[in-house]
Amino acid sequence: MEFSGLRHKKPKENSLENVKWSQFNITMPFNGKYLLYNTLSGNLILSTSCFDELPIRYSQDIPIDEQHQTLLKLGFLVPSTVNELAISRYQLEKRKTKLSQGLTILPTEKCNFRCVYCYEEFTKGRMTSEIQAGLIKWAHSNIRYWKELTVSWFGGEPLIAFDIVERLSTELMDLCVKNDVSYLAVMTTNGYLLDINRVHRLFNLGVQSYQITLDGPEKQHDHNRKLVNGEGTFQTIQKNIADIAKTDLPVKVTIRINIDKDNVNFIKTMLDSLITIIGDDMRFKFRIFPVGRWGGLQDESLPVLEDKADFYLRNCIEYAIDRGLLSGIDEFFQPNLICYAALPNHFVIGSDGTIYKCTVALDNPANRVGRLLPSGQVVIDDQLMALWVANDGENDSICGRCKVYPVCHGAACPLIRIESNTKPCHPIKENTGEWIRLLAKEASSRAK
Ligand code: SF4
Ligand code: SF4
Repeated sequence: MEFSGLRHKKPKENSLENVKWSQFNITMPFNGKYLLYNTLSGNLILSTSCFDELPIRYSQDIPIDEQHQTLLKLGFLVPSTVNELAISRYQLEKRKTKLSQGLTILPTEKCNFRCVYCYEEFTKGRMTSEIQAGLIKWAHSNIRYWKELTVSWFGGEPLIAFDIVERLSTELMDLCVKNDVSYLAVMTTNGYLLDINRVHRLFNLGVQSYQITLDGPEKQHDHNRKLVNGEGTFQTIQKNIADIAKTDLPVKVTIRINIDKDNVNFIKTMLDSLITIIGDDMRFKFRIFPVGRWGGLQDESLPVLEDKADFYLRNCIEYAIDRGLLSGIDEFFQPNLICYAALPNHFVIGSDGTIYKCTVALDNPANRVGRLLPSGQVVIDDQLMALWVANDGENDSICGRCKVYPVCHGAACPLIRIESNTKPCHPIKENTGEWIRLLAKEASSRAK
């Protein structure tokens, strides 16, 4: 039986009739030429021709030439039958597979620092041995599902519970080796206790990358990031970074810089002085971030950049690029790099066994999605879990038409959607062209 009207007219092969302009293409002028970026494929090209005219020509019976073949290969043109939104969703689903388990572990929720913008309450201390045992038992009973395990050490300050990091790392690594599961660990640390001896020991425990925060030159950093006793921390952290730079250990270090009204004019000085330490060492990159009101006691008095944040952020990133540093801009564009809080295969394990999704809103009841028991059992509240992992842009018609969707999926920060029921738009949604210009600038400086 044949239903008339349901069959498609067979398109001609090798004709532009068969292809369409990707819905995720973004074009903009750049240094007298034109940039074309595709948020689904992540490809970027520079051309002398203005791409603006190209979309109009498709669906005409014109032969596909060499230029079109290249555009097809790079995802700027796609077969006309392709549903790109579905591809983007499928790629995200692959990230959510149970084969890849992510854990952010808080071995202690105490900290040796008292940063001005901190949102933690420090009421909970070290992870008890019962919860540690529960974590290992849970891993034992689930390892058969995994192909890879990624552990992010977080806190508080994880290095003040170094013994717990060592014990859990050893057990988890052994378990992974025995079950042919790949193991990778990263650590977010204030860097104060990260002496070179620890870096070596942690490397042997699978820790291959760090995020360490420096908030400007010494005076500005020490204002924002003091020890509990009020003493400054800059000199010690800078020495620890310099000691890593002197080794040839294959560890990556992301230096996070939180910018606010008080330190933003000093970031360039700080980057200049860091160059004298790290030189052109590509193991170091930067992640610049505007200070926000993240829920701490001093929130109201913080000198946040407010509506100027995006401008200053791009300004600092551009300076880093101009100085030959890895500015971290590539991370802004990585497809499917949504927050781990939106992934069903990622848990944050608190020191008392509370399971969270987000590492910021620790006191928000919606964030306490479950509990790890000393028996190794994990009890999850499905209703709360769904708020984080099934509350993205999939059913949002505005997200579905957004060119940034393959990067953001409406889940760049699920907390925003939960707390204020607004879209958590990715930073590159605003001034997208400017962001792409910076991406191109870094790419061309790397190519030299
Ligand atoms: S949900 Fe938002 S605040 Fe929480 S960890 Fe993710 S990006 Fe950060
Ligand atoms: S949240 Fe904003 S940036 Fe993200 S996909 Fe939706 S509309 Fe686009």
